[in-house]
Amino acid sequence: MNKVFTPRTEFDAIQFRHHLHQYPELSLCERNTASLISKQLQAFGFHPRVGLGGNGVVCTIDSGHPGEITLLRADFDALPITEKSELSYCSQHHGIMHACGHDGHTASLMEVAYKLSLCPPESGKVILLFQPAEETGTGAASMLLDRWLAAQPVDNVFAYHNLPGYPRHAVIVKPETFACASTGVTIELEGKTSHAARPENGINPTTAMLDIIRHLQGMPKRYATAFTLVTVVHASLGEEAFGTAPGAAKILATLRSDKSSVLNTMKQDLCDAVSSISVDEGLTSSVRWQESFNTVVNAPKQCEIVSQQAQQLGLSVVELDEPMRWSEDVAEFLNKWPGALFCIGSGDEHPQLHNPDYDFPDTVIETASALFLSIINHLHFE
Ligand SMILES: [Zn+2]
Ligand SMILES: [Zn+2]
Repeated sequence: MNKVFTPRTEFDAIQFRHHLHQYPELSLCERNTASLISKQLQAFGFHPRVGLGGNGVVCTIDSGHPGEITLLRADFDALPITEKSELSYCSQHHGIMHACGHDGHTASLMEVAYKLSLCPPESGKVILLFQPAEETGTGAASMLLDRWLAAQPVDNVFAYHNLPGYPRHAVIVKPETFACASTGVTIELEGKTSHAARPENGINPTTAMLDIIRHLQGMPKRYATAFTLVTVVHASLGEEAFGTAPGAAKILATLRSDKSSVLNTMKQDLCDAVSSISVDEGLTSSVRWQESFNTVVNAPKQCEIVSQQAQQLGLSVVELDEPMRWSEDVAEFLNKWPGALFCIGSGDEHPQLHNPDYDFPDTVIETASALFLSIINHLHFE
């Protein structure tokens, strides 16, 4: 992606989105995307900070007057999925695609930047934050390691995710817990191979592997005070060799809960179980946590602002009864500052997120940017 997107006289957010879509980059590798975002902000006359927590970009629009500080966040990493589409702007990077719509989130926030460059806020500051590495759950936390960013006394955070399976343009809100905490776990068991005719000479991890899988699958019942879910996503045992009894096993699973504290208890429980089962069987074991996310907790006030402004724009508002089962690392920002994550429907029949035929619906850019601007208008133009 060496070509820089050049706006015509007016900024075209859809064209910008299509350009991002054509040149997707994986989490932690989004250098060109970050550079494109930064150049586009400069073209609007802003002076963005770059390199926050890796490839993060932040643009502050200061009214020069006292008032609230509002941070709007969009993510911009893509996924290791091969796109299946006939789109004129389909991915040019083999095996990588914007299958979660982060190209659309970023284009929406860039449209907000464009509009604010023409009509800056009258009070306080607006911080536009473009975040890398959302899919791996590390980008937000890495950006918060930046001392300047961490020191900002932000009053409001707002972010959105597009959501297939809901009417297009519907705004989906929920105060308190909006999305679950989750973590991936890799459990490895190490024993000793032996001749298949002499299994007693080895240390076979089969029984331990089955016990651990059963333990994992029994967890939701044991932690029924909160919403909990465990999905075993992969398991392997030994090699494909009839003459050899297995000496190693591997299990991968995803654990979720709508309470970070319950997820932490489940993690400790699993560590204890793996350790005691392995010791009983004479195996050595390791437990590795990966792609960990905290719960997304929305502040009631900011959640209410989203609902009100959505209604004023004539958008339908859906209030969820239960938190989303997926996770979002905007949780880190919402843990530090009060704010709200909301979703905008991508359409009832729209292909699901992370599917090879998914493509962000362009018309949602207008809805999302209008809603962000309406929120800014409410907080910074009085
Ligand atoms: Zn995703
Ligand atoms: Zn996403």
